[in-house]
Amino acid sequence: MASETQTLTYKVTDYKSEAHNDWCPGCGDFGILSALQHTLADLQLDPWRVAVCSGIGCSSKTPHFVRTYGVHTLHGRSLPFAAGLKLANPSLEVIVVGGDGDGYGIGVGHFVHAGRRNVDLTYIVHNNEVYGLTKGQASPTLQQGLQPKSLPAPNVLQGVNPLAMALSAGYTFVARSYAFDAKHLRATLTAAIRHRGMALVDVLQPCPTYNDLHDKEYFAELVEIEGRKVPRVYHIEDEGYDGKVADPNDEREVQFKLRAAFERVMRHEERAALGVFFQVRRPTFDERLARAIPALGAGGPAALRIADASGRPTTDLSSLVREYLV
Ligand code: SF4
Ligand code: MG
Repeated sequence: MASETQTLTYKVTDYKSEAHNDWCPGCGDFGILSALQHTLADLQLDPWRVAVCSGIGCSSKTPHFVRTYGVHTLHGRSLPFAAGLKLANPSLEVIVVGGDGDGYGIGVGHFVHAGRRNVDLTYIVHNNEVYGLTKGQASPTLQQGLQPKSLPAPNVLQGVNPLAMALSAGYTFVARSYAFDAKHLRATLTAAIRHRGMALVDVLQPCPTYNDLHDKEYFAELVEIEGRKVPRVYHIEDEGYDGKVADPNDEREVQFKLRAAFERVMRHEERAALGVFFQVRRPTFDERLARAIPALGAGGPAALRIADASGRPTTDLSSLVREYLV
């Protein structure tokens, strides 16, 4: 993060676009967008070295509002686009943004396999438990039996736990934050972007238009635990929890921290636990490829020579083409 005395090249406004924003007043998406723009300024990332990639949904409009490269892709398909961007140009900081319906519903296959690959990406999921853009149907994270005002009857489906899915899929950074906890969200996004590997930041995001159960007031409430009134939203690090693996080569430590993270994210509680549940440095997809196929060299697939100095392709596909000639 830039220190206060450092001369800053980029200000927060440098990451703001002028595109018209039609999110509803009070939407948690505004908090996440602002935290992202502040984080990019904190990290002093050149806007031309950042690409924000999204799927479909209210939050997936984010690339239009951030003045960097951006790709607004297909429903549930942001992760493969982002992985392609990163593999083709490893010097880009690729940030993926989308909703819970986009990422954990139609995109859940890509969500799982992105963890297995461990491409160096940051995935920010705006989790509001509904499909906001299409009028508030239950999303995969809405728990069974809950009935926000947009549903005609309580949800009959079991809700998924995205953090547990990420842990089991191989994500090497798994965190939760809250749209209106600006300081925490900014610090979490900073850590996720700095992390080398596949990072998930699931962000609790009030949707005041369709989800009246988990709105801003709900998250601001005090809850009673063992006779004491405590804030609903709390930080696990304040309770001494440390999910970061200090020595990735120590498999016992890795397994210990992974089990602790599973226990923590599966806990049933009235409170909303925020923090980094698990973090480990594991070889990324390009590093694994370079090890498995030494001919690729240290630069991975992106460094493969595909043309000579005059631009003539060095890859000969003629035998492949001949195979398909009729
Ligand atoms: Fe935000 Fe919900 Fe409105 Fe979408 S429908 S912009 S998620 S408040
Ligand atoms: Mg949603």
